[in-house]
Amino acid sequence: RRLVESGQVETHEVVEVLDRIGDESIRAGQIIHRLRGLVRKQECEMEPCDVGILLGEISPLALADARLNGVALEFAVSPGLPLIQGDGVQIQQVVLNLIRNAFDAMADLPESRRAVEVRATQSKGGEVLIGVTDQGCGIPEGNEDHLFERFFTTKEGGLGLGLAISRSIVTSHGGRIWYSGNPGGGTTFHFTLPVHRGTDDD
Ligand code: ADP
Repeated sequence: RRLVESGQVETHEVVEVLDRIGDESIRAGQIIHRLRGLVRKQECEMEPCDVGILLGEISPLALADARLNGVALEFAVSPGLPLIQGDGVQIQQVVLNLIRNAFDAMADLPESRRAVEVRATQSKGGEVLIGVTDQGCGIPEGNEDHLFERFFTTKEGGLGLGLAISRSIVTSHGGRIWYSGNPGGGTTFHFTLPVHRGTDDD
């Protein structure tokens, strides 16, 4: 709207912005739809998914959010990862939750130190392993056991649902979610997803 009001805008720029608004509203709708399904304990829509593609789809949104928060955000996907069996939109929701938490954890740092890495690799056990690493404040002592509980939050205005929903999504996929402290400070949240065991016809 600001662009249009400025009177100095090319039509193709407006079309680009509208396209992005359209794409993001469709994604928001899908997220709400899947979350409602989750609350009603419906089966989620499991299909073979390429984690690199799932991360690629959310990267424009996450990078825009990173810019707004003054964070350097990087994605690193190991080549040749196997497909996983899952509900792509739900998995994207988990990664976006973890990224958002990582940004929040670094809000008090100078911008030059705010960095987050999202990494997808294959675990020793063969599952796909996704890690979101921040350089933030770390997990305050005494909170370790509560993070994944519903309504646990240390943030003003926080809902305390992000990690609870993330754990419910990951476990319904047959994966695990946990966190560890980084040697140089900050936290990494990790989760695994079982690989798709396809038939030759897939
Ligand atoms: P919310 O973000 O609404 O507080 P979450 O369930 O996503 O809810 O997170 C619960 C709590 O876990 C947060 O309030 C915060 O204390 C802690 N937390 C989550 N992620 C991180 C992180 N990357 N670094 C430090 N603390 C974190």
